[in-house]
Amino acid sequence: MRFALAGNPNSGKTTLFNALTGATAHVGNWPGVTVEKKEGTYKKLSEKVQIVDLPGIYSLSPYTPEEVVSRNFILDEKPDCIINIVDATNLERNLYLTTQILEIDVPVVIALNMMDLVKSSGREIRKEDLEKTFNVPVVEISALRNEGLKELMDVAYKEASNKRVGFTVLENCKFASLIESTKKEMETIGIESPLFHAVKLIENDSVEMEMHEEIAKGVEKLKTQIPQDEFEGDYEAAVADGRYRYISEHFAGTVKKDENEGQLQVTKSDKIDKVLTHRIWGIPLFLIIMFVIFHFVFSSDILFLNRLFGLEINNEGWINFFIGMGAEFDEVTGELIALEGIPSLGVFLQSWMGWLTGSLIDLFASFMPEGTWYTGLVCDGILTGLDSIFSFLPQILLLFLCIAILEDSGYMARVAFIMDRAFRKFGLSGKAFIPLLMGFGCSVPAMVATKTLEDEKERDLTIALTPFFSCGAKAPIWAMLAFAIVGSLLGDIFVFSIYLLGIVVAIVAAILIKVFSKAHEVPPFIMELPAYHRPQFKNLMANLWEKLKHFIYKASTIITAAIILIWFLSNFSWAFWQGLVEIEDSMLVDIGNVLKYFFYPLGFSQGEHGWIYSVATVTGLIAKEDVVATIAQLLGTVAEDEETVGLALMGSLSNAQIYAFAAYNLFTFPCFAAIATMKAESSKKAFPKTLAFWFGGSYVISLVVYLVGLAFQAAIVLGIVVLHALIAAIVLCGYFVSKHRNKAKVA
Ligand code: GDP
Ligand code: MG
Repeated sequence: MRFALAGNPNSGKTTLFNALTGATAHVGNWPGVTVEKKEGTYKKLSEKVQIVDLPGIYSLSPYTPEEVVSRNFILDEKPDCIINIVDATNLERNLYLTTQILEIDVPVVIALNMMDLVKSSGREIRKEDLEKTFNVPVVEISALRNEGLKELMDVAYKEASNKRVGFTVLENCKFASLIESTKKEMETIGIESPLFHAVKLIENDSVEMEMHEEIAKGVEKLKTQIPQDEFEGDYEAAVADGRYRYISEHFAGTVKKDENEGQLQVTKSDKIDKVLTHRIWGIPLFLIIMFVIFHFVFSSDILFLNRLFGLEINNEGWINFFIGMGAEFDEVTGELIALEGIPSLGVFLQSWMGWLTGSLIDLFASFMPEGTWYTGLVCDGILTGLDSIFSFLPQILLLFLCIAILEDSGYMARVAFIMDRAFRKFGLSGKAFIPLLMGFGCSVPAMVATKTLEDEKERDLTIALTPFFSCGAKAPIWAMLAFAIVGSLLGDIFVFSIYLLGIVVAIVAAILIKVFSKAHEVPPFIMELPAYHRPQFKNLMANLWEKLKHFIYKASTIITAAIILIWFLSNFSWAFWQGLVEIEDSMLVDIGNVLKYFFYPLGFSQGEHGWIYSVATVTGLIAKEDVVATIAQLLGTVAEDEETVGLALMGSLSNAQIYAFAAYNLFTFPCFAAIATMKAESSKKAFPKTLAFWFGGSYVISLVVYLVGLAFQAAIVLGIVVLHALIAAIVLCGYFVSKHRNKAKVA
C-alpha cells in the first residue's frame, strides 16, 4: 500500500509526514525544501503503508521541477490513494490544485489541515459541501497538533480499495464538449486517466502536446470552431479561470465566519503583513530587524548605553561578571580600567566561553611536559586553533537561533516576497532569493536548493552569488575582526555592514549581469505566504542541534587537519629532516611572503604580520573557520608575550585593512565543499566562469574597499558611506516601487 501526500507549499505536508512516519525531516517555510521525494512508513493500520511526501505545488503543469516530480509520481507510480492536503485557512487558493488532482483516476482523500487555526479564529468549514461537490471524503485534521490523523488514515485506507474515475469542475464551461470529445480520443488509445490528459492537452500543456501529436492537431481544429471569448483562444487562461470560477461559486460560502471575534483573528497575520511587507517600509524594516539581531549578538555596548549616555562600569565584580573574569588594571597607575557599556548577550556568552576553554587549555597544558614538540603541536597548535573557534560558538549559535526564529515564524518567506517586489523589474525573481537567504546558514544546501529555478542561466547566477550571503562558518571571522575593530567602530555595526555589503554586492552584480545579458521577462513568482505563527521550540532546538553537530564534526576533522598542516609548515624549514625551527625560518613564512605580494594592493598584507593574513585567506578554502584558527595559531606565536590575539590584530591592521580583509574573505572562493557543490549544481560552462568571478570579484571589491578606506583614512567613515549608500538604495527602491505601484500585485 502506498499513499502520496500532495498539496501546496506550506500546507503542512512535511508536518503531516513527520507525524505519520515519525521521521524527523526538517520543517521549514521554504517552498522547495522538499524537492526530493521523501518516503516513510505508517504502521498503525492492519498493513504497513508507505507514505510519500511530494514536493509542494500549486498546479500539475510541467513548469517547475516540483510540478514535474509530483505529476510524474501520481501518473506513473500510481499511489493507492492521494491524500490532498488543503490549508483550510486558505481554502479557495488551495482547492485550485485539488480540482486538477480530481481529474486523475485515482482515489483521493482531502485532508483539511490547520483546523486548529480555523477553529480558534471562530470559523467553521462546511465539509459536507466539499464532500458532496467533489464526491471524495474530507477529513479535518491538525497535523501540528496530531489531531484527526488516525481518522484520516482509516478513511484513506478504505478509499484505497475503491476505484475512482476522474471528475472535472469544467463540465459546465464553454468548451465542455471539446473536453468530452478529447477524452473519448484519449480513451480510444487506451491511456489511463483520459480526462486529465484531455484537459491538459486543451491547455496546450507541452508534455501532452508532444505525447499526443495527432490528437493535438484535432483539438486545434476543434478550437477554431468554438466562439472566441474574453480569453481569445488562450486556453491555459480559460481553463484556470474555469477552475477558479467554479471554486468561488461553490465554496465562497463554505467558510462560516463568526461575526464578531472571528474576523479579527483571521486578519491578525494580514495586519502584521500590512506593516512588515509594506511597499516602502518592507525593506527598511528587514534591515532594522537584521540590525537588532546583530546588535543583540555582536555589540559590546548594548543599547549604545556608553555611546549615548557615557555609561561606564567601575566595579571589579561586575566587570568580571560581564566579560568573563577579565577585569584589567592600568599598568602605570594601577587603577581599574572601566568597562564601557554593557555587553550584549552574544558578547557576554563569548567572553565566558573564552574563559572556560582558555582555563581548560591551561589546566591541560600544566600536565604536559614543557618544551617538547608534541606539547607545541597540541597546546600551541591544535588547542589554540580550536579554542579561537569554539569561543565564538555561542555567538554563532545565537545568530543561527535568531535566523531560525525568523524562518520558522514565516518572516523569511516574506523577505523573499519583499525582495521579489523590489527587484523584479531588474529581472531578479523572489524565487532566487529563497536559496540566497538560505546561504546565511550554509552555501552547500543553498546551492542545492537552486534546483527549484527552471532557467539554467538564472540557476548558475544564483549559485555564483550564494557565497555572498555570509554563511555561518564565516561568522567567526567577523566576530574576531569585530573584536579587533572595536577601537573606533562598534562590533555590531561592523558585522551588520559586512552582511549588508554581501547582499548589496550580490544584488548589484545580479542586476548588472541581467542588464548585459538582455534580461527576459521574469515569470510571476507566486508564493503562498504562510500565516505567522509562534516558532516551535522543538524545531528551533532541532535546527541548532544540527548546526552544533555539523560544527563539531567539522572542527574534529578538516579544521584540526588544517591546523596540524599549518603547525607543520610553521615549525619546520624546507630542510624539515633537521628538526624544529623558529617560526621566522619556517616554510610557512616563505610561502606567506610570496602570497603577501599578491595581496599587497589590498592592504592587509602590508604590515609586519601581513604574511599571516595572506596564509589565513588560503587556509579558509578548507573551511572558513580556519581563517580564525590560522590567525590565532600564528599570531599567538609571533605576538609579544601577554598580548591577546585580538590586541595583536588591532595592533597590526588598520580599520581600512580589516575591512578589506573582511571583504576579501566574504567574496573570494568559498570552502572546498561549496566549490564542489557549485561544480555539481551549475552547468558545465559555468564552472570556470564562476571560479573566475569569485577570484576577480573578491580582489576588485576588496581593493575598492581598501582604497575608499584609505581615502577617508578611517573605516568609521567607510561605514557611514556604506550606510548612506544603503539609504540611497532604499529610497531608490521606494521610488521604483511606488512608480510601479499600479502594476498587478504578485501574490
Ligand atoms: P509543507 O511545505 O507543505 O511541507 O508544510 P510544512 O509541513 O513545512 O508546514 C508549514 C508550516 O505550517 C510549518 O511552520 C508548520 O509548523 C505549520 N503547520 C503545519 N500543520 C499545521 C497545523 O495543523 N496547524 C498549525 N497551526 N500549523 C501547522
Ligand atoms: Mg515540506
